[in-house]
Amino acid sequence: MTTERKMLQELIIEPGTGKALELRRGQILRIAQTTGRQCADFNCFNLHDYKEFFHTGRTRHLHGMHPTKGDFLWSAPPRERPMMAIIEDTVGTNDVLYPRCSAFLFEHQYGLAVHTNCHDIQAEAQREYGLTPDDVHDSFNFFMHTGVAPDGHPYIAKNMAKAGDYVELLALMDVLAIPNVCGADVMMTSNFELKPLKLSVFDAADSDWAKVNEPPRLKNQRNPEMFKIKNIKADRELYKDISYKPDFINVPIEISEIEIELSDEEKEWLSQLTATGKYGESEVEVLRYVFHSWWIDKFMRGPKHVPKG
Ligand SMILES: [Zn+2]
Repeated sequence: MTTERKMLQELIIEPGTGKALELRRGQILRIAQTTGRQCADFNCFNLHDYKEFFHTGRTRHLHGMHPTKGDFLWSAPPRERPMMAIIEDTVGTNDVLYPRCSAFLFEHQYGLAVHTNCHDIQAEAQREYGLTPDDVHDSFNFFMHTGVAPDGHPYIAKNMAKAGDYVELLALMDVLAIPNVCGADVMMTSNFELKPLKLSVFDAADSDWAKVNEPPRLKNQRNPEMFKIKNIKADRELYKDISYKPDFINVPIEISEIEIELSDEEKEWLSQLTATGKYGESEVEVLRYVFHSWWIDKFMRGPKHVPKG
């Protein structure tokens, strides 16, 4: 029983900087505002295998564009494990849509050839662990207030974080966690001004673990032991393996037909549903949709984004 949190470390990161922190499973990183309205970009690697890293895409898919308390930070396929759990979020405006700001962005869009930026800050902080600028990955953007306009373009809105606001991440595996002060001061991201952020690391209490939903453990969450090539390629040039023979999994793909009998009432319902044109062009297409909806209801974990009739 661990009833009390134990503080392990506390530090301030100044504008233009970030810090790589080793967190063991069961430790918490708190990223807190000092004076408020500051975005924090974030990278995360498996401490024992840097090829497993945080994936904005799967996280966005499972939790939407603004993950918050109760959501996970997932690693990229084929690992797809929850690396960290968001256990507190006092603002609720986070973003996994925008990429990190970069030197190119400020030069290209603003004519600023010299400017602090998240990519270069991450690269410098990760260098402490031997990673290169190519290893920086898409960021989780804490306290970044974003949305999508009706024309499909993303936009950045006013930063809502006030002094003292914070997010807390519980490590579900040993990770290298790298928060940085976002360098974007010429856009709304941090309300046109860069401010320090306060980082704290704790040993979690039982009450912290109680906030974490049981994550899935499935056989398709793969690890390097299951890879045909187990070693990481060390040279930059790509060249063909002349002994390569394709060996795709689940091939040949097996498809079996099933027969369904419909009552008169169901046939009528199917023809009405088909007439709406929303779910397919033919009754067979609509039946596939209906079957899909039934399958989702029966088996799917997590959010269900099937439009209801
Ligand atoms: Zn940035």
